[in-house]
Amino acid sequence: MNEQAAATDKATQESLISVHRWTDKLLTFRTTRPAGYRFTPGQFARLGLQVNGEMVWRAYSITSAETEDQLEYYAIIVPDGLFTSALDRLQPGDPVWVEKLSYGFMTPDRFTDGEDFWMLATGTGLGPYISILQQREVWQQFRNLILVHCVRHENELTYQEKFETLRADAAAQDLPAQLHVITMTTRDNAVDSADLAYPAAADRLYGRITTALRDGTLEKKLGIGITAASSRLMVCGNPEMITEVRELLKERGLGPCRRAGGGQFITEDYW
Ligand SMILES: Cc1cc2nc3c(=O)[nH]c(=O)nc-3n(C[C@H](O)[C@H](O)[C@H](O)COP(=O)(O)OP(=O)(O)OC[C@H]3O[C@@H](n4cnc5c(N)ncnc54)[C@H](O)[C@@H]3O)c2cc1C
Repeated sequence: MNEQAAATDKATQESLISVHRWTDKLLTFRTTRPAGYRFTPGQFARLGLQVNGEMVWRAYSITSAETEDQLEYYAIIVPDGLFTSALDRLQPGDPVWVEKLSYGFMTPDRFTDGEDFWMLATGTGLGPYISILQQREVWQQFRNLILVHCVRHENELTYQEKFETLRADAAAQDLPAQLHVITMTTRDNAVDSADLAYPAAADRLYGRITTALRDGTLEKKLGIGITAASSRLMVCGNPEMITEVRELLKERGLGPCRRAGGGQFITEDYW
């Protein structure tokens, strides 16, 4: 069986519809959606590209809403990355294979209680939250939806307009939750960030998520504490950040969600 035929057993051949380039390294791309394809917001798909005649598969969080007839993903082009170098060259109409099953346990339905839903992301770890925030249920389930996006440079603070649209849609539908977006940069400091073209430069936090969590800056920013009773958290992106956040949360009496139930946080490492 050749590689392409093997791919179609577990995947369907879709095609690239569009690419939006946020920076030279960050892009949002859309593909056709396989007939009957199902996923839960927060899950990821395995995508396949043909590279030098061989199929290469990588996991990508789905950023589109459950109800859309296209699939959207948010990606970084990794220097010399096998998959992402090929992704960078794709043109609309080119084939992209999408595995028939979607995966992952980072779905908000695993939280059965809690008032404040914290979504912590580094870089493209933002992806799953874009889909989750388009799910009506989370706006009904929680009092506060708190998205924390930490990147190196301010031009990597993407999807800001989407958050405004989501807020406006929720207000128009009288949905109870408030969306708070906390942006953080680790390399551009306050002095460099006089460029108001980038969102809320004056309002941004500078430094790492782990530091802001440890010293309380994150909670002080909104006046909302992180407690086992009220907080439910997802953490996505850089594995070192995730390991450290898990420890910090455990020290504060929060635990990982288990299949059997209970727990306050869910994490997903991207590498
Ligand atoms: C469950 C899951 C979901 C994922 N979802 C996404 C997603 O939505 N968007 C996305 O861009 N990537 C995502 N990834 C990472 C993605 O699958 C690939 O690892 C990435 O595209 C690099 O593939 P590559 O062949 O180009 O590079 P490789 O040669 O495989 O290089 C891998 C190396 O690149 C770096 N790297 C990989 N991914 C990232 C990243 N996202 N940000 C910064 N550095 C990275 C790491 O140093 C890693 O060791 C996800 C990974 C997992 C496990």
